[in-house]
Amino acid sequence: MSEHVSKGFVLILSAPSGAGKSTLARLLGERCRGLLTSVSTTTRDPRPGEREGEAYFFVDVATFQERIAANDFLEWAQVFGNYYGTSRRFITEALGRGLVVVLDIDWQGARQVQGNMGDADVVSVFIMPPSREQLRTRLCQRGQDAEAVIDRRMDAAAAEVSHWDEYDYIVLNDDLERAAEELAAIVAAERLRRLRVERPLRGILETFGL
Ligand code: ADP
Ligand code: 5GP
Repeated sequence: MSEHVSKGFVLILSAPSGAGKSTLARLLGERCRGLLTSVSTTTRDPRPGEREGEAYFFVDVATFQERIAANDFLEWAQVFGNYYGTSRRFITEALGRGLVVVLDIDWQGARQVQGNMGDADVVSVFIMPPSREQLRTRLCQRGQDAEAVIDRRMDAAAAEVSHWDEYDYIVLNDDLERAAEELAAIVAAERLRRLRVERPLRGILETFGL
């Protein structure tokens, strides 16, 4: 069924840092049409090569706090001592256009989105790394964080993984291609959920006098 006849939803991807969320989100975008990745706002410093408005919008703490007060964020959280938040307006507009919006957010943000939006609007996926050791290897291979930053991310990894059972789906990211295929399958199946296709099907039902 074409994505154009089903309602959009928010696709939450959570995982410990370095498990492969950004890589998988990019591969998913290449495999599925009608997908949009939400660009979060953060107070952390840009990594080498990160450009404003691509991975993130980078702001200072005062600006972030003003935007919290203005209720601009659908969800926000402090992760590794920095603020991160998802623009409410961006999500509302994308869902209004029937798109699937990918959110790369932590478990605190996932809880807020699951609490603030109805079941029909949210699908959540936890990306599981193959092991703690392989997670550290990936963080080191990415080569974008200092040793001390990697140590802090490893300390937080167990806390993030402990929330795995709050998600609808678990995708093991051992083989990247297979994990990307599984994510694409989740999107395809979730687009066919009755609660998402019922309304667009109305025209067909009418031809049966229903
Ligand atoms: P995250 O967005 O979750 O912090 P990234 O997508 O930046 O993680 O991935 C971290 C590093 O691990 C990157 O160098 C990426 O190329 C690598 N990586 C991701 N998935 C795999 C995989 N299945 N096998 C091996 N390396 C991977
Ligand atoms: P990084 O600094 O590695 O890009 O991201 C660190 C962590 O912050 C990741 O777990 C990522 O999922 C999370 N994160 C990124 N953007 C957001 C956001 O808008 N909201 C929340 N709650 N977490 C976010």
